[in-house]
Amino acid sequence: MSTQATAGADAPVLESWIGGRSVPGSTGQFYPDINPATGELLGRTSVAGAAEVDLAARTAYEAFKKWRLTPAPRRGEILYRIAQLIQERKEELARLMSREMGKVLFEARGDVQEAIDEFYYMAGEGRRLFGFTTPSEMPNKFAYTVRDPVGVVGLITPWNFPIAVPSWKLAPALIAGNAVVWKPAEDTPLVSLEFVKLMEEAGLPPGVVNVVLGPGKQTGVPVVEHPLIRVISFTGSTQTGRAISVEAARLGKRVTLEMGGKNAITVMDDANLDLATEAILWSAFGTTGQRCTAASRLLVHEAVVDELQERLVEGVQKLRLGNPLDEDTNVGPIVNEKQLTRVHGYVEVGRQEGAQLLTGGETVQEGELAQGYFYRPTIFTRVSPDMRIAREEIFGPVAVIIPVKSLEEAIEINNDSEYGLSSSIFTQDVNKAMQAARDLTTGIVYINHGTTGAEVHLPFGGTRGTGNGHREASVQALDSFTEWKTVYIDYSGRLQRAQID
Ligand code: NDP
Repeated sequence: MSTQATAGADAPVLESWIGGRSVPGSTGQFYPDINPATGELLGRTSVAGAAEVDLAARTAYEAFKKWRLTPAPRRGEILYRIAQLIQERKEELARLMSREMGKVLFEARGDVQEAIDEFYYMAGEGRRLFGFTTPSEMPNKFAYTVRDPVGVVGLITPWNFPIAVPSWKLAPALIAGNAVVWKPAEDTPLVSLEFVKLMEEAGLPPGVVNVVLGPGKQTGVPVVEHPLIRVISFTGSTQTGRAISVEAARLGKRVTLEMGGKNAITVMDDANLDLATEAILWSAFGTTGQRCTAASRLLVHEAVVDELQERLVEGVQKLRLGNPLDEDTNVGPIVNEKQLTRVHGYVEVGRQEGAQLLTGGETVQEGELAQGYFYRPTIFTRVSPDMRIAREEIFGPVAVIIPVKSLEEAIEINNDSEYGLSSSIFTQDVNKAMQAARDLTTGIVYINHGTTGAEVHLPFGGTRGTGNGHREASVQALDSFTEWKTVYIDYSGRLQRAQID
């Protein structure tokens, strides 16, 4: 997608949302918001710079002072109303998301559903937010712990799950009493604005969540650097996440990172191949392969590799590419031209590396797809684990088959990756399943299921280059947005010295 200003176009101007009102960007730059299926210009984003980020951070800080004192169960009631309102507007939000970033409609509904689930779940945390009490080593002394909010948190989110991923960060940050400066991806400004306005309509006080619009360099960098923003919660590429991490370390900030994946599905010789085929097609080509949990490596036992390949090629040829708003479309476009070029670049790399192309490997520019960024679902076979297409995150509809001789070999290849998000194994042998669950070193393991399908009440995140030890969703997400405070109350009426008296 072009980063050039599109002066003169008559699409609506999209402005940052700070303290409950629209704020134009002071950079004077505009960014096009383009429907990737049709090329339609949906809006022009007025790019926010350091001045708007500063306004957003100071506004959030003022709002935080009141929000942190709102009892958590009352905050929970607002989160509950947000969940209800998202539920009422589910279809509207899903359609907007489809138009803006190309996710097929039934998946866009799932993206919105995840936000509903997350807000309902975290609303309940308002009546828990458990700390603990424990005996003091002194007489007439009492000790307990509470989770305190950290203050203003900065959320930096990608375009591939434009409602679900922000919700994983927003709901725990808000229930814990923080205020937010949120920088969504430049490809999804419209749906982000709808979301923040909905939250305020549901009763969230203006200023508690502020949205700054624009690209990473102009708008994201000042969020990372702003002194009032104490925590950065980021989802996106490993490269950007690590750069943010270095800067945050210099500034002494906490960073939680949820980054890339190179997820593998292992198919053993005793697997149910019907089920494995269906799960691979869904995991590799759902969301056009643009998921951090997408299956991009298929570690297939050599005894079943020919049969599985045949089934996969047959399955891929039945997938219908099309406008994501059509109910019978299976695969939508890639989000933008830059990503399309990147995906095709990897396919060229695969060819040069000597992998055998089974199906796909080209853009589609015909008929109603002519104006969009469509790419045929692609499978390579005879791939060796050291090829770049087997090691680097492609983030598009490309999967590679690596034949294996044993479970042990599959586990070794699975674990020998820069990333560590999700793994899956298809087998009907409980011993092999248990061995895999024990030995696969990713944050998520699926048995007889593809690599995608997170539920909000379970921790989500990965090892190695996928993360930095934090988890999203579940009660563990609260760790990213809270500080433990330990309170000692001495009612002895005298000085009792720890470790001395
Ligand atoms: P990025 O990691 O660059 O973008 C993620 C978010 O970070 C966006 O909001 C982006 O803004 C912002 N950002 C970018 N640079 C900075 C910076 N220096 N400081 C602060 N914020 C910044 O991913 P891309 O969208 O460019 O995609 C590139 C690749 O990243 C994909 O091919 C894929 O491999 C991976 N990716 C992984 C995702 C996942 O779910 N794990 C999600 C998306 C991408 P903006 O986009 O507006 O410039």
